[in-house]
Amino acid sequence: MDAMKRIAVFTSGGDAPGMNACIRAVVRTGVYNGLEVFGIRRGYQGMIDDDISQMTRRSVANIIQLGGTMLKTARCAEFMHPEGRSKAAENLKKRGIDGLVCIGGNGSYTGALHLFQEHGIPTIGLPGTIDNDLFGTDFTIGFDTAINTAVEAIDKIRDTADSHDRVFLVEVMGRDAGFIGISVGISGGAEGILIPEDARDLEKIYRFFDRKDRRSKSFSIIVVAEGDEEGGVLQLAHKLSSRYPDLDIRATILGHIQRGGSPTANDRILASRLGYSAVLALLEGQQSQALGIVNNEVKMTPFEQAIKQQKPINNSLIRMAEILAS
Ligand code: ATP
Repeated sequence: MDAMKRIAVFTSGGDAPGMNACIRAVVRTGVYNGLEVFGIRRGYQGMIDDDISQMTRRSVANIIQLGGTMLKTARCAEFMHPEGRSKAAENLKKRGIDGLVCIGGNGSYTGALHLFQEHGIPTIGLPGTIDNDLFGTDFTIGFDTAINTAVEAIDKIRDTADSHDRVFLVEVMGRDAGFIGISVGISGGAEGILIPEDARDLEKIYRFFDRKDRRSKSFSIIVVAEGDEEGGVLQLAHKLSSRYPDLDIRATILGHIQRGGSPTANDRILASRLGYSAVLALLEGQQSQALGIVNNEVKMTPFEQAIKQQKPINNSLIRMAEILAS
């Protein structure tokens, strides 16, 4: 195999704070190692549309602190089909791009795996999603920023909850997983946490409010993951109001504010370590691997495994949260 000379980086799927820090690390590590580094705009869509340009150390100056992604991101239906991937591969090959760094989630990894199997273009995947639900890494890029944003919002909601003796149901992101919910619940000092992984969570809330002393307690915060089986805060507010008509219940959906903003120091460090390691992995000849950080060490997981396996939530955290709220 010839030595790698040209690589490209792109962001795909939902944006996450820290993606820019990651792009910066890929570009600078690549240039340091004598590579030509290209940026692909709008993920797989840009690969198909040939929206690709060379990047330099300078083109990633002053972006480490910015949320979103300077390369833009997109979801691309055309790439789901072999014809779309052939167009993308042609564009990469005509520019002599022989390795990719994909910053995204499970869907993006699946696309990269197909591209490798069909056209032999190696990709290193980096976990860029606020949800922290990717296998093979303790943390994903953007998660720390998202939970800090949500906790800041909860601290503010707490002021009103306290002043008016209200129960606030706060919905956080996490369609399929409760990593944001459990972390925000613990750090926001919530009285209850509802996440998809805990089938008994509503029962616990009922138990909490069934205690008369609890109902007369000045206020409560309940954190609800958007993917919880109870169906979001509005339905839950309705259920709780019917059961406890004496409670003054309000529902708040934090929504997309959780996806934006300047990345925390932890996210910048994670993004930098992973971006740097991805380039070294490509230079070593690695192909089709997802990188992550496990026990503070960079770890590689084959795409097949990273895509298939589910990251479990730490059950001891669920138990601890229950005890701390009691
Ligand atoms: P997030 O966690 O933010 O949703 P993601 O990477 O999982 O990130 P997706 O929308 O699932 O986001 O995937 C991003 C893109 O990857 C898709 O728009 C599509 O272009 C490509 N992709 C996803 N699944 C496949 C697949 N099975 N085959 C080929 N390409 C795919």
